[in-house]
Amino acid sequence: MSVRKVLKYGDPFLRGATKEVHKVSKKIQELVRDLLDTMYQQNGVGLAAPQIGESYRVFVIDVSTSDEPLNPIVFINPKIIKKSGAVISHEGCLSFPKAFTDVKRYANVTVRAMDRKGRSFTLEVKDGTLLARAIQHEYDHLDGVLFVDHAINRFEAEDVLSENELPPLEPEKMIDEPELTEEIEKLLEAKEDEVESDEDDE
Ligand code: ZN
Repeated sequence: MSVRKVLKYGDPFLRGATKEVHKVSKKIQELVRDLLDTMYQQNGVGLAAPQIGESYRVFVIDVSTSDEPLNPIVFINPKIIKKSGAVISHEGCLSFPKAFTDVKRYANVTVRAMDRKGRSFTLEVKDGTLLARAIQHEYDHLDGVLFVDHAINRFEAEDVLSENELPPLEPEKMIDEPELTEEIEKLLEAKEDEVESDEDDE
């Protein structure tokens, strides 16, 4: 059990590939414990193995609030088997200290994975909850994808990165999902309309 060093954006390891876990061995169980220890110590909502320099398909999430008991969820060899809807998600990442920006996410996801004892489970999460968004964020880490690759506004993301002395966006890594982008644009328009009608009232 130990708190590990979290790799920062710019470290090439965060862009690397990961391998499937063939057996939930002692080593993997130790990795899970280290991920949890490190996530809690850093007050994070989730942490993926590559962030502590381990190239396995493993991540952990805990979305419980400070007045609730801890509720860690361990995902080993996860697969997102269904995704739908869209939500604007204001995200940060333990590998990007202090940098937050709006990103595009699916609102609903179904994920299948193994828990820390190697038992498989399926989890369906809806309505763009923190858990739904965290699953997508952590899952991406296993494929070397980072939250800024989903930025809604590249200029804003670029500013946030430079303000926090982090390396710039990597344009070739940006994710282009036309259908999701279209849904997000609709959400943004609806938001603008809301603001306008608020202004009309005054
Ligand atoms: Zn992250």
